[in-house]
Amino acid sequence: MSEPAAFGVTPIGKISSPFKQKFAIPRQPALADARGSVGFLPPFDDVNCLRGIETYSHLWLLFLFHENLEQGWTPTVRAPRLGGNSRIGVFASRSTFRPNGIGMSVVKNLGTELVGGQLRLHVGGIDLLDGTPIIDIKPYLPYSDSRGEAEAQLLNEHPLPAREVQFTEQAIAQLQAQPHKDLKALLVQCLGQDPRPAYRQSQDTDPKTYQVIFYDRDIQWRVVDGKVLVTSLQQVS
Ligand code: SAM
Repeated sequence: MSEPAAFGVTPIGKISSPFKQKFAIPRQPALADARGSVGFLPPFDDVNCLRGIETYSHLWLLFLFHENLEQGWTPTVRAPRLGGNSRIGVFASRSTFRPNGIGMSVVKNLGTELVGGQLRLHVGGIDLLDGTPIIDIKPYLPYSDSRGEAEAQLLNEHPLPAREVQFTEQAIAQLQAQPHKDLKALLVQCLGQDPRPAYRQSQDTDPKTYQVIFYDRDIQWRVVDGKVLVTSLQQVS
């Protein structure tokens, strides 16, 4: 039997997302109400390609982990969600380091719009980096894609971290002075999941100040007495 051929893929568009770095992006969709939009590239920027899409509340986005493609893949990975110590098979994981580098996320369909002449599809609950190449979109089919009996036993012992998120007075003033209405909620949802490396997550007071960029804001935060404390939000220069 001959080897299967290698196929190329052509991105159909790119996503605009509030997440400008990989750090602190939720590990799966729907873990934060992060909104973005897919901008289509020719020849896929044809409204006919989206005809009927408004009848689906949720969609599958298939995409490339483009920031990690060059690093290739390994047969086993350390899953951060499992504490980062034990290794599991790449096909037993949602690791971003995988053969072909393909990601998949179920997102909310928030409708289509022509923005400055460009066709855009608005989506919610995303876990994608800004600029991620989208390679396909398909409707989520509840009658088949939703499995009530599904189990993920390995994860049962590793619930998602949930920390309270507080803001200093300076951070509150900076939040009020910036234009992104959902930024506070996004910080509460994303930083509350404690995106620190697994080995740091047990530290309820951590001397390190962490930095993340959401939209055009450079955000500094720490973990103090078990809570996340956002200390400053500066406009990225
Ligand atoms: N839901 C998808 C899946 O299961 O295929 C993605 C899961 S993956 C564990 C989610 C992480 O991918 C995010 O936390 C972010 O750090 C990373 N990520 C998102 N977009 C990326 C991109 N374009 N390149 C590399 N990493 C990306």
